[in-house]
Formats: sequence, C-alpha cells, structure tokens
Amino acid sequence: MAVRRTAVVGESELLASYPFLPGAERLVAAFAPSLKDLIEDPALSRARELGRARIRAAVEDPTGGTGVGELVLATHEEQFLSFLYARLLLSAPRSGAAIRRWAVAEAKRGSTRLNGADLEVIREVARRLGFGFDVDGHDVELVVPEYLKLATPIREADFRLVHQAVAHGRVRIDRERAARLLQEAVRLRLGEPIALGDDVRTRLLDAEAEFLEEVLRRVPTPTSRAGGVGPLLPEKFPPCIRKMRRVLEAGENLSHSGRFALAAFLHRAGADAETIVDAYRGAPDFDEGITRYQVEHITHRDDGRGYSPPECATLRSHGLCVREGDPGATSPADRARDPLCYEEYLRHPLQYYRIRGGRPVDDSPPDGTSGGRRSGAGGRPA
Ligand code: SF4
Repeated sequence: MAVRRTAVVGESELLASYPFLPGAERLVAAFAPSLKDLIEDPALSRARELGRARIRAAVEDPTGGTGVGELVLATHEEQFLSFLYARLLLSAPRSGAAIRRWAVAEAKRGSTRLNGADLEVIREVARRLGFGFDVDGHDVELVVPEYLKLATPIREADFRLVHQAVAHGRVRIDRERAARLLQEAVRLRLGEPIALGDDVRTRLLDAEAEFLEEVLRRVPTPTSRAGGVGPLLPEKFPPCIRKMRRVLEAGENLSHSGRFALAAFLHRAGADAETIVDAYRGAPDFDEGITRYQVEHITHRDDGRGYSPPECATLRSHGLCVREGDPGATSPADRARDPLCYEEYLRHPLQYYRIRGGRPVDDSPPDGTSGGRRSGAGGRPA
C-alpha cells in the first residue's frame, strides 16, 4: 500500500535544485531586489554568467545531455538566479526554437537529479507540478489518467500503457520511469517563453545583444530563415508526408529514406528541431540522442538551409509515394486518391504544400531564375 511521508530536503535546496517548480519565483524577492538588478547589478554578474553557461550547454549539445560543471560549486542563490536569468534571456527575442532547446537540457538535468534523489523528493516535485505520485516501497504509483497525461507526449513505444504494470486503476513505475515522466512535464512547462514587460525585454536585448545573436545563429527559428516561412500547416502536407507521420505515430517502422525525407521536408516547411525530433518519438527504435544528431545533420547543412527533400520521382522509386491513397489511414480523405498528385506539373512534395496554402522556406535564388526550384518549393506553373 502507498505511504505518504514528508519531504526530506529544505525549501531553499529543493527550489535551487528544481528551479522550474511553481513557486520558485518567491526566491527572486529573497535573492535579488528586482529583475532590473538581476540584469544589471554587478554583484549578480556570477549568476548571469552561469545563466549564459546553461544556455551555451544546451546550444552546444543537441541531446541536452551536457552538464554545467560550474553549477556544482554554485550557491543555492546562484543556481536559482542563473536558471531564471537564462529563462528571461531566451524569452526576450521570442525565439521558440532556442527556448525549446534549452527546455530539453534543463528538463534532462532535473530528471538526472531526480533519478538519484530520494523517492520522497520525486513525490514532492511531482506534487508541485500537479501530479499525485505515491511512494510504495522502491516504486511509485499514480492513477492511469495522470500517467497518460505525462506519457502521451513522450510517444516512445516503451511508455505505452499496455507495457505498464496496471492494477486497480493505478500504474506502478520505477524511479527511472518516474523521473522520465516528470522530465517531459518540465520540458513542456519550460518550452514556452515567459511574458516580459517592454522595459525588461529591452534591457535584456541591449545587455546581451552579442550573446543572443550567437545563440540564434546556432539555433535558428524557422521564421529567421530566408524566404519568410509561414506557420506549419500539417493538414496541408502531401499524402506521402502525412503517411510517414502516421506510420511513426503508430509505432511502426519507417525506412531510412522515409526518415530522411520527413526530416528534410519538415525543416523546409518551417518546423524547428524540437518539432522534427518529436515526429520520431513513436518509432520502435527511437533513440533521442541519435535522432537529435541526425536532425542536426540534416537541418544545419548549407548555413541552416538543410538538405533538399527528395522529389516525387525519388519518393516513388522508394515506394514512399501514396498518391493512390493510404489504406491504413483513419480519415476517409487520406484513404482516397489525391488528384493534385496526378497533375503533370507536380514534381515535389513542397510544391504540393505550397499549392495547398503552406508557405515553406523559399529557396529560389535572389534573381528569380528557375534554379531555385531544386527543392520544388515553387507553386503551380503559369
Ligand atoms: S505525388 Fe509527390 S507529393 Fe504526392 S504523394 Fe506522391 S511523392 Fe507525395
């Protein structure tokens, strides 16, 4: 039977170790008189430097697995303020891609710490994040709806409910799995920029212009790429790309050429690295570290333009074209033959996307010559 006990670490230590917890903001008043002080006070320069180190570690390692050595020697105050400073800093330029990259790294750092923590600490962190974990012996239990809420975004086959020990409406998991579930909750929580007042935003952008420029260069947002890419519109994707996503979501295998085509397409369609990695989480052999490196390789080439996605003819030769319809799809529209795919002028999945209303990265050369149609981003011919 599950037993409730009290937390085993003090409040200040808990919030310094897990600064993403709701309520940690209370420490700001205790440690720094105002956000302006955090940005400008020379006495807090060490916290700012550690904040930049947190971001640098995330930028340099797409797996999010690199630690920040200096944090080991930092005080509780510096640990918390550096976290807050990093979060503020990445919220200032409204760069979704950079803050999501950092969120992965911070969530992993928290998860690693939780993995070595007392189970009571795991229970307390979960409670503060809004989840009811109960400690039972060497394991943790939680109710099925909460498990599903935490596990669904993970999408890795191993985390599906059918693979868990379930009894009387409760799921029993070990420490490692509990830490991994909370990692996902933290990643989602930190992945959104926080709202900043104009004064704070301006001060941050002025004070850290050079540093932020370097970060945004290394973790480009889709909208910062050439050609004015529009919002991602998955419902406008061509049938081949929709099928590749469906196959992965169903936990089925997708060929190597299909995986490459999907990543290259999503990148040109405007998806950031986190969104592309997420598309592969359902793969039966999903390995986050390997996937991140492969996505980096595909998307960083040629100064961020990435590899060109394959043309229709290439996809057809690999058996990846489904213009005749996808029999495994749940939606009748996806099961049906797509007339646009039979148009003689249609040469490329990105061309399909553009005709349907999507706005992928325009890789046409500045002089407007046809050389830019390499990736087929052009629309219907005149
Ligand atoms: S014709 Fe082209 S866009 Fe349409 S399904 Fe086949 S490969 Fe995809």
